[in-house]
Amino acid sequence: MKKVLFCRVLLTLSTLFILTGCGISKKPSNNQHYVSSFSDSEIRLIMQQDSSKPMRVLQTDRTNDSLLLRTISTEVKPDVNDPFLSTLIKRMLRTVKDSASLGVGIAAPQVGILKRVILVQRFDKESNPFEVYLNPRIVKYSNMKQECREGCLSVPVIKGITKNRAYAIMIEYFKPDNTFVTEMIEGFTAVIFQHEIDHLDGLLFFDYL
Ligand SMILES: [Zn+2]
Repeated sequence: MKKVLFCRVLLTLSTLFILTGCGISKKPSNNQHYVSSFSDSEIRLIMQQDSSKPMRVLQTDRTNDSLLLRTISTEVKPDVNDPFLSTLIKRMLRTVKDSASLGVGIAAPQVGILKRVILVQRFDKESNPFEVYLNPRIVKYSNMKQECREGCLSVPVIKGITKNRAYAIMIEYFKPDNTFVTEMIEGFTAVIFQHEIDHLDGLLFFDYL
Protein backbone atom coordinates (compact mmCIF):
# COMPACT_ATOMS: atom_id res chain seq x y z
CA MET A 1 0.00 0.00 0.00
CA LYS A 2 1.26 3.42 -0.89
CA LYS A 3 1.98 5.55 2.15
CA VAL A 4 1.80 9.31 1.85
CA LEU A 5 4.16 9.84 4.71
CA PHE A 6 7.31 7.92 5.42
CA CYS A 7 9.10 8.49 8.59
CA ARG A 8 12.48 7.86 10.08
CA VAL A 9 13.49 8.72 13.56
CA LEU A 10 16.41 11.08 13.72
CA LEU A 11 18.49 10.06 16.68
CA THR A 12 19.59 13.08 18.63
CA LEU A 13 20.93 13.66 22.08
CA SER A 14 18.08 16.01 22.84
CA THR A 15 16.29 16.12 26.13
CA LEU A 16 14.02 13.19 26.73
CA PHE A 17 10.34 13.85 26.52
CA ILE A 18 8.77 13.14 29.85
CA LEU A 19 5.80 10.85 29.74
CA THR A 20 3.02 12.41 31.70
CA GLY A 21 0.44 9.81 30.91
CA CYS A 22 -3.05 9.86 29.53
CA GLY A 23 -6.25 11.09 31.11
CA ILE A 24 -9.87 10.95 30.11
CA SER A 25 -12.65 13.05 31.53
CA LYS A 26 -16.17 13.85 30.48
CA LYS A 27 -17.12 17.49 30.06
CA PRO A 28 -20.74 18.41 30.62
CA SER A 29 -22.64 18.86 27.38
CA ASN A 30 -25.41 21.34 26.84
CA ASN A 31 -27.77 20.15 24.14
CA GLN A 32 -30.74 22.19 25.30
CA HIS A 33 -30.19 24.74 22.53
CA TYR A 34 -28.94 22.74 19.59
CA VAL A 35 -26.94 24.81 17.12
CA SER A 36 -25.10 23.13 14.28
CA SER A 37 -21.44 24.00 13.94
CA PHE A 38 -21.72 24.27 10.19
CA SER A 39 -22.65 27.11 7.86
CA ASP A 40 -25.41 26.62 5.27
CA SER A 41 -22.86 26.29 2.45
CA GLU A 42 -20.86 23.74 4.46
CA ILE A 43 -24.04 21.74 5.13
CA ARG A 44 -24.84 21.76 1.40
CA LEU A 45 -21.33 20.50 0.58
CA ILE A 46 -21.44 17.77 3.24
CA MET A 47 -24.93 16.59 2.26
CA GLN A 48 -24.40 16.89 -1.52
CA GLN A 49 -23.92 13.11 -1.66
CA ASP A 50 -24.61 10.32 0.80
CA SER A 51 -22.18 9.24 3.52
CA SER A 52 -20.71 6.40 1.40
CA LYS A 53 -19.31 8.85 -1.15
CA PRO A 54 -15.88 10.50 -0.94
CA MET A 55 -15.52 14.28 -1.16
CA ARG A 56 -13.37 16.25 -3.57
CA VAL A 57 -9.92 16.95 -2.13
CA LEU A 58 -8.85 20.59 -2.52
CA GLN A 59 -5.57 21.11 -4.40
CA THR A 60 -2.88 23.74 -3.82
CA ASP A 61 -2.43 24.31 -7.55
CA ARG A 62 -6.00 25.66 -7.84
CA THR A 63 -6.32 29.28 -6.71
CA ASN A 64 -9.67 29.05 -4.91
CA ASP A 65 -8.71 25.76 -3.24
CA SER A 66 -5.39 27.22 -2.16
CA LEU A 67 -7.09 30.15 -0.42
CA LEU A 68 -9.26 27.77 1.61
CA LEU A 69 -6.27 25.56 2.46
CA ARG A 70 -4.52 28.65 3.89
CA THR A 71 -7.48 29.65 6.10
CA ILE A 72 -7.60 29.03 9.86
CA SER A 73 -10.49 26.71 10.76
CA THR A 74 -12.90 27.25 13.64
CA GLU A 75 -13.87 24.83 16.40
CA VAL A 76 -16.65 22.33 15.98
CA LYS A 77 -19.23 21.39 18.60
CA PRO A 78 -18.79 17.72 19.58
CA ASP A 79 -22.23 16.13 19.26
CA VAL A 80 -23.08 12.56 18.26
CA ASN A 81 -26.55 13.75 17.31
CA ASP A 82 -25.30 16.27 14.75
CA PRO A 83 -26.17 14.58 11.42
CA PHE A 84 -23.86 16.91 9.49
CA LEU A 85 -20.87 16.14 11.70
CA SER A 86 -21.44 12.38 11.47
CA THR A 87 -21.88 12.54 7.68
CA LEU A 88 -18.74 14.68 7.36
CA ILE A 89 -16.72 12.15 9.40
CA LYS A 90 -17.98 9.22 7.28
CA ARG A 91 -17.29 11.04 4.02
CA MET A 92 -13.80 12.13 5.17
CA LEU A 93 -13.06 8.49 6.00
CA ARG A 94 -14.25 7.43 2.54
CA THR A 95 -12.10 10.16 1.02
CA VAL A 96 -8.86 9.28 2.81
CA LYS A 97 -9.32 5.56 2.06
CA ASP A 98 -10.32 6.22 -1.54
CA SER A 99 -8.12 4.45 -4.07
CA ALA A 100 -7.33 7.83 -5.63
CA SER A 101 -5.98 9.09 -2.32
CA LEU A 102 -4.84 6.32 0.03
CA GLY A 103 -3.73 8.76 2.67
CA VAL A 104 -2.83 8.20 6.30
CA GLY A 105 -4.67 11.28 7.54
CA ILE A 106 -7.02 14.04 6.42
CA ALA A 107 -8.23 17.36 7.78
CA ALA A 108 -11.67 18.90 7.14
CA PRO A 109 -10.29 21.98 5.31
CA GLN A 110 -8.93 19.58 2.67
CA VAL A 111 -12.52 18.80 1.71
CA GLY A 112 -13.61 22.44 1.92
CA ILE A 113 -15.00 22.42 5.48
CA LEU A 114 -13.23 25.01 7.65
CA LYS A 115 -13.78 23.18 10.94
CA ARG A 116 -11.26 21.65 13.34
CA VAL A 117 -11.86 17.98 12.50
CA ILE A 118 -9.12 15.51 11.56
CA LEU A 119 -8.83 11.78 10.88
CA VAL A 120 -5.56 10.02 11.63
CA GLN A 121 -4.53 6.44 10.91
CA ARG A 122 -3.18 5.08 14.19
CA PHE A 123 -0.05 3.13 13.26
CA ASP A 124 0.64 2.89 16.99
CA LYS A 125 -2.49 0.76 17.52
CA GLU A 126 -3.25 -2.80 16.52
CA SER A 127 -4.85 -3.07 13.04
CA ASN A 128 -4.02 0.62 12.37
CA PRO A 129 -7.54 2.07 12.63
CA PHE A 130 -8.51 5.53 11.41
CA GLU A 131 -9.82 7.65 14.28
CA VAL A 132 -11.51 11.04 14.44
CA TYR A 133 -10.36 13.99 16.58
CA LEU A 134 -12.33 17.18 17.16
CA ASN A 135 -10.66 20.47 18.11
CA PRO A 136 -7.26 18.77 18.57
CA ARG A 137 -4.46 20.82 20.15
CA ILE A 138 -0.80 20.04 20.68
CA VAL A 139 0.03 21.14 24.21
CA LYS A 140 3.58 19.80 24.47
CA TYR A 141 6.38 18.93 22.03
CA SER A 142 9.47 16.81 22.70
CA ASN A 143 12.83 18.44 22.04
CA MET A 144 13.78 15.29 20.15
CA LYS A 145 13.00 15.65 16.45
CA GLN A 146 12.40 13.14 13.68
CA GLU A 147 13.01 13.25 9.95
CA CYS A 148 10.07 12.35 7.72
CA ARG A 149 9.39 12.04 4.06
CA GLU A 150 6.02 13.78 3.72
CA GLY A 151 3.45 14.26 1.04
CA CYS A 152 -0.12 15.54 1.12
CA LEU A 153 -3.39 14.67 -0.61
CA SER A 154 -3.80 18.38 -1.39
CA VAL A 155 -0.30 18.93 -2.76
CA PRO A 156 0.31 17.45 -6.19
CA VAL A 157 3.80 16.25 -7.10
CA ILE A 158 5.83 17.74 -4.23
CA LYS A 159 7.20 15.40 -1.59
CA GLY A 160 9.98 16.26 0.77
CA ILE A 161 11.82 15.46 3.94
CA THR A 162 10.84 17.55 6.93
CA LYS A 163 13.40 17.64 9.73
CA ASN A 164 11.65 19.56 12.46
CA ARG A 165 8.73 17.35 13.46
CA ALA A 166 8.73 16.55 17.15
CA TYR A 167 9.34 12.89 17.95
CA ALA A 168 6.60 12.96 20.59
CA ILE A 169 3.67 15.26 21.31
CA MET A 170 1.03 15.65 23.99
CA ILE A 171 -2.38 16.32 22.48
CA GLU A 172 -5.80 17.27 23.77
CA TYR A 173 -8.98 16.68 21.80
CA PHE A 174 -12.67 15.85 21.98
CA LYS A 175 -14.32 12.70 20.71
CA PRO A 176 -17.67 13.18 18.92
CA ASP A 177 -19.47 12.14 22.16
CA ASN A 178 -17.86 15.14 23.90
CA THR A 179 -15.35 13.06 25.85
CA PHE A 180 -12.24 15.15 26.47
CA VAL A 181 -8.95 13.25 26.07
CA THR A 182 -5.28 14.02 26.77
CA GLU A 183 -2.87 11.63 25.08
CA MET A 184 0.84 11.20 24.36
CA ILE A 185 1.69 10.22 20.78
CA GLU A 186 5.11 9.35 19.40
CA GLY A 187 6.92 8.26 16.26
CA PHE A 188 5.34 8.14 12.82
CA THR A 189 1.81 8.66 14.17
CA ALA A 190 2.97 11.87 15.89
CA VAL A 191 4.04 13.22 12.50
CA ILE A 192 0.61 12.53 11.02
CA PHE A 193 -1.01 14.45 13.92
CA GLN A 194 1.38 17.39 13.45
CA HIS A 195 0.70 17.42 9.69
CA GLU A 196 -3.10 17.27 10.06
CA ILE A 197 -3.33 19.81 12.91
CA ASP A 198 -1.23 22.17 10.77
CA HIS A 199 -3.97 22.01 8.13
CA LEU A 200 -6.39 23.47 10.69
CA ASP A 201 -4.13 26.54 10.92
CA GLY A 202 -3.60 26.88 7.17
CA LEU A 203 -0.08 25.41 7.26
CA LEU A 204 1.26 22.91 4.72
CA PHE A 205 4.19 20.53 5.09
CA PHE A 206 6.28 22.28 2.44
CA ASP A 207 6.33 25.37 4.68
CA TYR A 208 8.91 23.39 6.67
CA LEU A 209 11.14 22.32 3.79
ZN1 LIG B 1 -1.90 17.18 4.14
